[in-house]
Amino acid sequence: MDYKQHITIVEDWPKEGIKFKDITTLMDNGPAFKSAIDDIVEYAKQQNVDVIVGPEARGFIVGCPVAYALGVGFAPVRKEGKLPRDTIKVEYGLEYGTDALTIHKDAIKPGQRVLFTDDLLATGGTVEATLDLVEQLGGEVVGCAFLIELSYLNGREKLKDYDILTLMEY
Ligand code: 5GP
Repeated sequence: MDYKQHITIVEDWPKEGIKFKDITTLMDNGPAFKSAIDDIVEYAKQQNVDVIVGPEARGFIVGCPVAYALGVGFAPVRKEGKLPRDTIKVEYGLEYGTDALTIHKDAIKPGQRVLFTDDLLATGGTVEATLDLVEQLGGEVVGCAFLIELSYLNGREKLKDYDILTLMEY
């Protein structure tokens, strides 16, 4: 399916010069959203995945239906202070300053085969930080699935050691 026709490009949002790729117009089209999720489910089956991990908030939108379809668990990765039990944390660089992501310490068991999901790969900072958390917990990252890749930002460079699926490229 040509998924790009369902993505809305919003000029100058959230700030001037950015062409934001809005996935909500894919999500609100039932057949298109289902087809995109089904593509990731097929990939996850090939990779023999035990658990899905995704960062807030759009990583949940992509990862949870995949987890449901496979009958495997979903481990949420969230900004600091949002998860209620013992967590581990990783700090990562943003354009200005740093941010931190956390995961529950028991969310991934050592040796589990983990699929990372998110809506979009840009610089790769979010996925890199999340995979650090997964590996600290002993998870084996067997794939990274995104709806969209902004290939001009070279996020793939940070993922040389991993298998990647992207459904659209800009
Ligand atoms: P990165 O860490 O790879 O630089 O940025 C990826 C993260 O930023 C993803 O979690 C994604 O949700 C968000 N993001 C950055 N730009 C866009 C965009 O144009 N559209 C959407 N939907 N998300 C974006």
